[in-house]
Amino acid sequence: MTILIIAEHDNGSLKEITLNAVTAATEIGGDIDMLVAGENCASAAQAAAKISGISRVRVADHACYNGQLAENVAALIQSVASEYSHIIAPSTSNGKNILPRVAAALDVAHFSDIISVESPDTFKRTIYAGNAIATVQSDDAIKVLTVRGTAFPLSEQNGSAIIEALSTVKDLGLSTFIDESVAESERPELTSASTIISGGRGMQSGDNFQMLEKVADKLGAAVGASRAAVDAGYVPNDMQVGQTGKIVAPDLYIAVGISGAIQHLAGMKDSKVIVAINKDPDAPIFQVADFGLVADLFDAVPELDQAL
Ligand SMILES: Cc1cc2nc3c(=O)[nH]c(=O)nc-3n(C[C@H](O)[C@H](O)[C@H](O)COP(=O)(O)OP(=O)(O)OC[C@H]3O[C@@H](n4cnc5c(N)ncnc54)[C@H](O)[C@@H]3O)c2cc1C
Repeated sequence: MTILIIAEHDNGSLKEITLNAVTAATEIGGDIDMLVAGENCASAAQAAAKISGISRVRVADHACYNGQLAENVAALIQSVASEYSHIIAPSTSNGKNILPRVAAALDVAHFSDIISVESPDTFKRTIYAGNAIATVQSDDAIKVLTVRGTAFPLSEQNGSAIIEALSTVKDLGLSTFIDESVAESERPELTSASTIISGGRGMQSGDNFQMLEKVADKLGAAVGASRAAVDAGYVPNDMQVGQTGKIVAPDLYIAVGISGAIQHLAGMKDSKVIVAINKDPDAPIFQVADFGLVADLFDAVPELDQAL
């Protein structure tokens, strides 16, 4: 049994969620290879070689893999798929873009966003916005899975895998990478932050999010939002937490003016400590909150800021 993990990276470094996917692969068992597909991605490949449990890093370094275009990377994976029992990617925009194509091309099932490994062919994943957990079993020869990062701990990084070039060039010419603009922020990234403060429709405007940013700066926290706040144009959509946003599990999650719809809870209910500030005592968020404050946020947040 040999597993192929698709590395999430920006050519220069690996994204931490790759380490969560390696832990999932380790629980399946067998040899583990990692594929680093990109352009000028030698540094990412070197970082991959240090992950414990990886025996071989396969590097496809070519202009056609810049931006990890799903069409080309999926075709590359398909060309080596017969060597593997499992093909795994972190459940990120990239993973969710690439692996369903691979599964379709191989004519096998695709299991998205698994949260546990029961055995090499059986996995758990959430359904109905996290309201139920399905146990799914595959008898396909190749299992194609994306892994929810927050469900698995980070793997260690004291390995020394061999690095091999994979010279296959699969430029399908169907898409072109033009540009990527990465939002610069002093604050931690949402999916890796240990504290998050999120605002909902109750914030009433984008300007009012400055209140949350002040608290976030004092706590070293990331700032998130509900979909209602994003849809209302208060904040950009990369801040959305939930079923169709980012899945987070920080040590502390503070929900401000968020009602607690199931689609929001699906993205944050695994947080270790949940604090909710809402003026409606019947808001569903209080059912998952460890600490609830029934208060007007326009009083409570400035008070919290001052106390900090
Ligand atoms: C397919 C699908 C996917 C979805 N995906 C997501 C997702 O990924 N993430 C997500 O968040 N939602 C998602 N939603 C939307 C979700 O159903 C809710 O509509 C949304 O989460 C509501 O956001 P909210 O809690 O900010 O707004 P509301 O439900 O309007 O709640 C606002 C809350 O603020 C409180 N409030 C108002 N004023 C104050 C004040 N002054 N002080 C204190 N409290 C105050 C109110 O009491 C209320 O509880 C999805 C929906 C669908 C159908």
